[in-house]
Amino acid sequence: MASLSVDGKHMPKPKLTTEQREQLFAPLFDRVKAELARIAGGDVRVHWALRRKLAKELTYLERGTPAHRKRLKEGKYVEQVALCAICGRVLPYKNTELDRIDAFLGYTLANTRLVHHTCHIADQKRKKYT
Ligand SMILES: [Zn+2]
Repeated sequence: MASLSVDGKHMPKPKLTTEQREQLFAPLFDRVKAELARIAGGDVRVHWALRRKLAKELTYLERGTPAHRKRLKEGKYVEQVALCAICGRVLPYKNTELDRIDAFLGYTLANTRLVHHTCHIADQKRKKYT
C-alpha cells in the first residue's frame, strides 16, 4: 500500500516546521481573522456564526462530511464482513470507528479500516509508544 513505507511502518503525518508556522500559517490565520471581522461588519452574532461555519467546513475538508464517513463505514462493514480489523471479533453495526491507515491520505475505502472504539484507543496508545 502506498501509505506504508518500505519497512511497513506508517508514514509520519506532514507537520509544519516552526518556520512554516511563522511564515505561512500565522499570516494566513491573521488574514482569516481580519476577513471574518470585516465581513461580520460588527455584528457579534454573525461573527460567531461565521467562525463556527468556517471551523465546520475546514473539518469537512480534512475529514469529509458526516454523510461521506457514514457511507464509508457501511462500505467497510460489508468489506470486512462485520469483523474488527484489529481484534477480528464481530463489530456492532453502530458505534464503530474508522481508523485511517495514513491520516494524510484521508477517509477513503483504501485508506481506512473499521474497528471497535476500544481497539482503536488501544491501538493509538500502542502506536504512540512504538
Ligand atoms: Zn476490535
